Amino acid sequence: MVEASKLWFESACRDSKCSELIHPWTYRCSDATKTMLISCIKGSYKFYAMVYVIQILMRGKKLGKKEMIEQFKLYLKSGIFGLTVGSSFVTLNCIFRALFFSQFSYYTTVLLPCTVSGLAVYFEPPYRRVMVVNLFVNLVFEYWVRTLEMKGWLRRSPGKETLVFMLGSAVFFYLLRLDRENDKRTPLFWFFTPPRVSKEVGEPVTGIEGRSPACPHKGPCINYILRGTAQLFGVGYAMTLLRTIIPKILTPRKALGALRLSQLKLGLFFGGYIGLYRLVVCILCRAHGKDSALYALPAGLLSGLAFRAAPSLPIALAPVTSALQILTSWGYQKGMIPANWPLVELLYCVCQGLLFHARVMHEDVCPRYIINLMHTVTTSKADEIQSAFIQKILKEKIA
Ligand SMILES: [Zn+2]
Ligand SMILES: [Zn+2]
Repeated sequence: MVEASKLWFESACRDSKCSELIHPWTYRCSDATKTMLISCIKGSYKFYAMVYVIQILMRGKKLGKKEMIEQFKLYLKSGIFGLTVGSSFVTLNCIFRALFFSQFSYYTTVLLPCTVSGLAVYFEPPYRRVMVVNLFVNLVFEYWVRTLEMKGWLRRSPGKETLVFMLGSAVFFYLLRLDRENDKRTPLFWFFTPPRVSKEVGEPVTGIEGRSPACPHKGPCINYILRGTAQLFGVGYAMTLLRTIIPKILTPRKALGALRLSQLKLGLFFGGYIGLYRLVVCILCRAHGKDSALYALPAGLLSGLAFRAAPSLPIALAPVTSALQILTSWGYQKGMIPANWPLVELLYCVCQGLLFHARVMHEDVCPRYIINLMHTVTTSKADEIQSAFIQKILKEKIA
């Protein structure tokens, strides 16, 4: 893969026509806009179909007819967001070039138009904007960690990532339990939501039967713990199955052959995560006869161990990002951040600019998710642009 430094990029691409660099499949800017738009309509709705299916699966609840229609409306809006971002890259570049810049430069080619097109996030309803920003901030963290690693300043390992996830989960679950006492809860998308702190108190309980009066659930503790474990194990396993079987669905024998033990990993992580969390909270409630938000600290830390079954950098960083999100939303609620500042939207624009810039200029350290996202949403037009661009740089490097 090719790393494009400012110097290389500018000497190779500065004097290109936009048809050489931005839309290599057609000479005319208007044609380019049209084909890009069509590709992105297809790609964006395909991408969001997957996103919505996974989100509905993760809820673990059946949807009523009304909710189905609601979800479908949201899906249509998300699609508009995706196709606007995807298709505007080409158009904005052609316009900027015609109006303001006569040459391509390192910062104005991808960073600038993709920061501007981030404004399309206004198509999403406010609570979904917050979730999209959470995802993108997390991806920027991933991009930074990968950059540090490439520069040799940092070494990653599954053990270290597990530790980061454990510490992050401890803080995050603690903040989450405090946040549940608020009237206005922060919109978050997480594997599971810990119940609010129970107000009941009672005598300590010994043995393993029944429940403590302080337990934040009904029924015996063992049922509560096992039910959660089984449910999330199922979700994790279903997600793995979808990912491995759907591409092979036309050849059932191959699909069955694709089932392996390693596919239990995600299920083990999900199930273990909630199971350990609930186990620790129940043990503490039983021992003390009352519940406390602080129990989330040891429970979050230990439950994070389950991450070792399926480590990945973006998930390792996710609890930290979500903890920051809760703190920011408290900042809004306490008036420390003025409510009329479009902080979420601006943050989204900056993250999108940075990440798409990384996709084109620093492919090696760009999060996988962004590469796949751009590929899917633009129906591989992004890859066409990328390869034309890489060829230019390579020619320059050889010459
Ligand atoms: Zn053009
Ligand atoms: Zn319990």
